[in-house]
Amino acid sequence: MNIANDNAAKAAPCPICRKASALAYRPFCSKRCADVDLARWLGGTYAIPAAPTDPDEDDEETPPRRPRASDED
Ligand SMILES: [Zn+2]
Repeated sequence: MNIANDNAAKAAPCPICRKASALAYRPFCSKRCADVDLARWLGGTYAIPAAPTDPDEDDEETPPRRPRASDED
């Protein structure tokens, strides 16, 4: 017996206020709580990972590879 569909109606509670979450604002219960969560993000409450720097673009110390055309033989 599969009751997964029934469980789908029971979403996890709102992470902000622990109320039952609304489908329209999952996982939050309302737009307000969604905004609260967003504000935390913008406020830096959550650790926002910095943009990963591409080591290939920051190679001032590493000389660029210059393939020698038929110079090795
Ligand atoms: Zn809430």
